Amino acid sequence: MKKILIIVSLIFLFFPDYIYPFQASIDTDHGQITVKSEYRRLSQGELIKISLHSPEFSCAKAHFEGKDYMFVSSGEPSTFFFLIGLGLDIKPGIHDLNVRIEFADGQRKSFSFKVPISKGKFHFKKLNVDRRFTSPSPEEHERILKEVELTMAVYSEPASHWLGHGKFIMPVKDRIKRNFGERRIFNDGFLSRHRGIDILSPAGTPVRASNSGKVALARDLYYSGNTIIINHGIGLFSIYCHLSKVCAEEGESIDKGEIIGYTGSTGRVTGPHLHWGFKMFDKYIAPLSVVCLSFD
Ligand SMILES: [Zn+2]
Repeated sequence: MKKILIIVSLIFLFFPDYIYPFQASIDTDHGQITVKSEYRRLSQGELIKISLHSPEFSCAKAHFEGKDYMFVSSGEPSTFFFLIGLGLDIKPGIHDLNVRIEFADGQRKSFSFKVPISKGKFHFKKLNVDRRFTSPSPEEHERILKEVELTMAVYSEPASHWLGHGKFIMPVKDRIKRNFGERRIFNDGFLSRHRGIDILSPAGTPVRASNSGKVALARDLYYSGNTIIINHGIGLFSIYCHLSKVCAEEGESIDKGEIIGYTGSTGRVTGPHLHWGFKMFDKYIAPLSVVCLSFD
């Protein structure tokens, strides 16, 4: 007994933020229903996967932070899921997640979970870039506004079903800077938040699609240079920036692992690298919280 207590104390000492995934099962006249969670951490900027294993139902949905979510098929029989993006701005504390399943005969079952969200740990950095990126001219400012509108339109049209196949993969295999969520001050005063991670690949390295999906955007943008956005469905998009060359076309379906472009240093950069990001509806998500999920 003493040994077990010591081991448990050590786990909390070394992994103070680690909270075990929540799970619950209920027996119904139709069979057993199980709701499971999967995540890297329950903290700001992370992705959570909620899975449902259930006999045939007429409707299965959930509610979290004022938003409704529908379960979609995972491709496996009787298995469904949806994704929650914990934004960088989500308030730390306990948040309610409610799941409701309705059957064709009118029977209803519900689950309630208390989800403890902790504050993310983000660095602070000072950077120097070309002045045109911190003080754009009126013409450049107009271009930036148009591009913001364009990307918002892309994110407002997620596919209603899941387009991915299995786990997400790294788009390149080089050294990763763990700088997601970093607070940045450019030159003298311009504040920004780093909404992805930087991978230090030499210019010209092939970039692969992290998962299957549809190319939602492939064009040159002011800040992110040559950019590709892939729509993976149900609100999740992957983003690849500063490419020297783009080899994907808007509207094209892409397979996981396919080469979509080559790394470079276009846009607001201090040197060649791949900026890799994810967006879940309107929330930016840490890429490493996506690649660790199973999606099987
Ligand atoms: Zn970056």
